Amino acid sequence: MKVTEHIAQAKDTRISFEVLPPLKGKSIDSIYDHLDPLMEFKPAFINVTYHRSEHMFKKKADGSFEKVEIRKRPGTVGICAALMNHYNVDTVPHLICGGFSREETENALIDLAFIGIDNVLVLRGDAPKNESFFEPDPHGHSYASELLGQVVQMNNGIYLEDDLQGGVKTNFCIGVAGYPEKHFEAPNMQTDLANLKRKVDGGADYIVTQMFFDNQKYFDFVNKCREIGITVPIIPGLKPLTSKKQLNILPRIFNVDIPTDFSNEILKCKTDKEVEQVGTEWLIAQSRELKNFGVPILHYYTLGKPRVVRDAVAAIM
Ligand code: FAD
Repeated sequence: MKVTEHIAQAKDTRISFEVLPPLKGKSIDSIYDHLDPLMEFKPAFINVTYHRSEHMFKKKADGSFEKVEIRKRPGTVGICAALMNHYNVDTVPHLICGGFSREETENALIDLAFIGIDNVLVLRGDAPKNESFFEPDPHGHSYASELLGQVVQMNNGIYLEDDLQGGVKTNFCIGVAGYPEKHFEAPNMQTDLANLKRKVDGGADYIVTQMFFDNQKYFDFVNKCREIGITVPIIPGLKPLTSKKQLNILPRIFNVDIPTDFSNEILKCKTDKEVEQVGTEWLIAQSRELKNFGVPILHYYTLGKPRVVRDAVAAIM
């Protein structure tokens, strides 16, 4: 079922989760262990992230270095299929521009349609580690709006090859990312919102936000979106903050502010357990306020902290 159908049919705020594929060489059981305690909340859907190859420099026998590509977390599509089978739940694979040609994207979409997946979250992706700027594949897309355009075309039976026009129409519900505190590369909020509007006008059915720790940022973002004519559902993305290190890492990587009240409480903590407790309480308060506001879905980035997410969801259900 499509994300938008889940939203239309829901009588109250629903829950969704996001997981990462395990590291290459690890078993899928880690995903089941992670999700088992969360499934009692009957998530509307589960997102599975996509991780592009990273470039590493490997030392050769002659002492020189060669650049090699390594995919550390393959398996997005397979995990979606496995989760559908294991839990009978809808899944949302993430699709990115980086590292994909248009043809590879087309083939991936065909696979997803054959498996019976109804949703995709289309993203640009970031530069690989050790590289400063995002570089598109020479035959791929530069922006999420372009990738979205390809999915919309396939939903209309338009394929890359001329003699395939009028082929089977896919029927994907398409999500895109939105940034309540601005995407880190955008020169200003207005330009970033114009980009988001371009994605919605191009056919996006809903938006999932980057994490935020101050709900007012989400409320303001929703208002700004509505003011410029974005009417699709805006699903808030929530992440538990559970270590002191994250006070520096999250703002740097994701361009998010940590409110002073929250960071002060974290800094006062003497043990990791206390930090986790403060992080859980903050997540509960955020979730409760957003639920009262009437958000359609609370989307949790579970990333290694299912227990905290479990406690937070249990407190508000
Ligand atoms: P875009 O919408 O393409 O925007 C990228 C930047 O370009 C923005 O600054 C935008 O303002 C600007 N821009 C857009 N269009 C134009 C244009 N035509 N001209 C000039 N500037 C333009 N990354 C992964 O690798 N895998 C994942 O699974 C993943 N999941 C994510 C899930 C969510 C909910 C979110 C919020 C992010 C996720 N990311 C993921 C990270 C994402 O790939 C990065 O944030 C990336 O830097 C931007 O992706 P985007 O889709 O928002 O890009």
